[in-house]
Amino acid sequence: MQYTEIMVRYGELSTKGKNRRSFIMQLAQNVRGALAEFPNLKIHADRDRMHILLNGEDSRLVLPKLEKVFGIQNFSPSIRVEKNLTALKQMTQQIMEEIYTGKETFKITAKRSDHSFELDSHGLQQFLGDAVIDSFPEIKAQMKRPDINLRVEIRRDDAYLSYETIKGAGGLPVGTSGRGMLMLSGGIDSPVAGYLAMKRGVEIEAVHFASPPYTSEQALQKAKDLTEKLTPYVGGIQFIEVPFTEIQEEIKKRSPQGYWMTLTRRMMLRLTDAIREMRHGLVIINGESLGQVASQTLHSMVAINEVTTTPIIRPVVTMDKNEIIELAEKIDTFELAIQPFEDCCTIFAPPQPKTRPNLEKVLELEERFDIDGLMERCLAGLKIEKILPEQAEKSNEFADFL
Ligand code: ATP
Ligand code: MG
Repeated sequence: MQYTEIMVRYGELSTKGKNRRSFIMQLAQNVRGALAEFPNLKIHADRDRMHILLNGEDSRLVLPKLEKVFGIQNFSPSIRVEKNLTALKQMTQQIMEEIYTGKETFKITAKRSDHSFELDSHGLQQFLGDAVIDSFPEIKAQMKRPDINLRVEIRRDDAYLSYETIKGAGGLPVGTSGRGMLMLSGGIDSPVAGYLAMKRGVEIEAVHFASPPYTSEQALQKAKDLTEKLTPYVGGIQFIEVPFTEIQEEIKKRSPQGYWMTLTRRMMLRLTDAIREMRHGLVIINGESLGQVASQTLHSMVAINEVTTTPIIRPVVTMDKNEIIELAEKIDTFELAIQPFEDCCTIFAPPQPKTRPNLEKVLELEERFDIDGLMERCLAGLKIEKILPEQAEKSNEFADFL
């Protein structure tokens, strides 16, 4: 079926009162970003619905991209028809010929925003129902939960027919909740945390700590590839590479093994917070899951968190590993995440990190470091790049070629 437009129904934002306008504008912008590769599309966002005019673009390619955009409850690909009864009858019969296999029940649902149209919704339902029965005398009409619900909408300019409703991604449009810095390692948990934060409307920027030459170019590329997997939900994500080598070497040189992990995490958090401020973010997001490793006991979290009062969102904190993996598979980050490239934490991982670090001891140890100087040098070397969906696709092709 050659669709002419996609009708999009908003998700939760319908209930957001005064903010509605900015929610809708943000959603329209995100839809434009997600569908940027289709130059002929025209997007109109009204108060109640969004209409994406296909203008000849292939709906089979557009629909899967739209399914990823947060803030959409569901959408229906539709066919535009001239606003007269003959054309409507003809298209209704044509659609039924394509989709009816001889078994389904059906119903016509009519809606009329143009009240000057010759039939009202009830009359239109009757008229088109009869048209279907003319073509398929044995077909059964059913008002409750029919197999086929053929919707017709009479608008000011044209009429629209649709028979499919596709579930949207739900959530809130990315950007409507403000900006957060996602601490993104190369592991399973942090990309899932980023996905969940975006689902609730947070615009994320990925902050990744790299310690070359201890960590490899592949480990860095893996973090970028994971970021790329998160871009279909927004169109593009800023990737911030933090040079962490000097700090890790200093920690190793100047403190006892048992405290490397806590001191390292505190530095990571301080730096992420400084970057957040520079980038006008409101919160920090990480992939910590309670009890998973030494740095993720409540005692460790308290000792690490002490460096900032910025809210830290931990979307996967109470999830079991299996639950996180399930989501990682859904967003297609799992296979990438389990590739064995060492990241900066594994390389400097002490054999016996403290699971109950003592905060006083931590503060005392930190007096041995020139924290301000270390941070300043580190922040001077940030590398920021925007990761776009296609860009990474190209680098994957290149990798295949090699
Ligand atoms: P993940 O699967 O996300 O790597 P993990 O279970 O391996 O998590 P840790 O390695 O202890 O746990 O890291 C906990 C969190 O700290 C990560 O989820 C991430 O948010 C942050 N983090 C760890 N390493 C890095 C890094 N190299 N760059 C940025 N953030 C990091
Ligand atoms: Mg990790």
